[in-house]
Amino acid sequence: MRTQVIVGNWKMNLDTAKAKALVEGLRAKLKGGAKCEVGVCPPFVLIPAVVEFTRGSGIFVGGQDMHWEDKGAFTGEVSPPMLKDVGCTHVIIGHSERRQFFGETDETVNKKLKAAFKTGLTPIVCVGERLEEREAGTTEAVVTRQVRGGLAGLTAQQVERLIIAYEPVWAIGTGKTATPAQANEVHALIRRLLAEAHGSAVASKVRIQYGGSVKADNAAELLAQSDIDGALVGGASLDAESFAAIVCSARTT
Ligand code: PEP
Repeated sequence: MRTQVIVGNWKMNLDTAKAKALVEGLRAKLKGGAKCEVGVCPPFVLIPAVVEFTRGSGIFVGGQDMHWEDKGAFTGEVSPPMLKDVGCTHVIIGHSERRQFFGETDETVNKKLKAAFKTGLTPIVCVGERLEEREAGTTEAVVTRQVRGGLAGLTAQQVERLIIAYEPVWAIGTGKTATPAQANEVHALIRRLLAEAHGSAVASKVRIQYGGSVKADNAAELLAQSDIDGALVGGASLDAESFAAIVCSARTT
């Protein structure tokens, strides 16, 4: 059975003092131990501090993005070895905000996934359709293109270690959530695509998170779905109480 994984994407929020307070609050609320994997993805500049704040807690720390090259003349970018060096174990790749505002494509997602594996980082790769794509009935085509394009050329051993986040763009930060059935349907599609490419044994190991306005009051229903293996949480991860409540909604088996 897949262990659920709940990750907070802090986006461009918080400062050192607020990050410390948030992690302390989270540690206090999860003192008894979480029944799932838990991680947070702070802005780059806060990562070293958050690695210290989370030390010994079992909470992992990830980047929100990275370049695919190890080093070089890429002003403003951060490389995979740099994330590793400051204590990251995970990295979000292909978030819809990167696709929408910063020109991320399936091709760059693919390069970044390969770079993450080369460096020993676990990628959390995001896919999901925009509102107009859902309304035009192209959700399946869009997600299929993103999964096939993003994961092209990965080995079965790499795919097994991936975390995929299905995040319908229309549900991110909007308060609109996909119904559990809508989400589970796309999760099942993603797992079918993985099985087609790498066989059902590999596909059955991949964790597929749901993301998009996950809150304390809707998490349990979403996390109870058979193909939903966790959540990528934006807004609600900025508050210790609501993020801890989501973590506590994870199913045990
Ligand atoms: C996200 O940023 O990945 C996200 C799901 O945000 P929110 O939970 O705020 O919708």
